[in-house]
Amino acid sequence: MKLIPVDLNSFLEEEDGGSTNSEFDDLNKRILACRRCDLHLTVTNKVISKGSNHPKVVFIGEAPGKNEDETGVPFCGRAGKLLDKMINYMEMKDGDWAVINTLKCRPPENRTPTTKEIEICRPFLTEQLHLMNPTVIILLGNTAEKAFGESVGWGELKKTKDGKMLLKIFHPAAMIYKREREQEQYAFLDKYKYLWTE
Ligand code: URA
Repeated sequence: MKLIPVDLNSFLEEEDGGSTNSEFDDLNKRILACRRCDLHLTVTNKVISKGSNHPKVVFIGEAPGKNEDETGVPFCGRAGKLLDKMINYMEMKDGDWAVINTLKCRPPENRTPTTKEIEICRPFLTEQLHLMNPTVIILLGNTAEKAFGESVGWGELKKTKDGKMLLKIFHPAAMIYKREREQEQYAFLDKYKYLWTE
């Protein structure tokens, strides 16, 4: 099932020279208090973000897994190690990147988020992107693409209406099960390296 695209760009369009810590605090409080879907009934810790509040590059993942649910930190398990390796390879400084997820709560048994859950959680994702105001948005797999509401091919680079660069690459977990994808993934990163290094 496909989500109806919302105009995420209208959120991203607004000029935002620098969101304040209190704006992030306010958003984070609302995420922590959220009970809009049943995932809040089984969650241990909501998972909000890691990295900079004002990054050049934002990675969007799928949803917290077991390790993330236990710690409240995105991508801190096995897939996270592969993401760290990618970030290292991209030669970005610490302040250059942030990692967020489509859902802030772990779906039981790590099942794929439902369309409804994505829809319900999407306002938080759009607000995070609005506050962070990155120049490059990297969709890690199909769930992030679905949440963003724009169709993008693997390794395809698109420009959003407001001039942000949108790239879809494999979710790091996909490389755990298909090692041959790693080479392709690193070729995508080589191809677009100028986006975050220039
Ligand atoms: N997979 C995700 O998509 N996000 C995480 O935080 C961890 C694993």
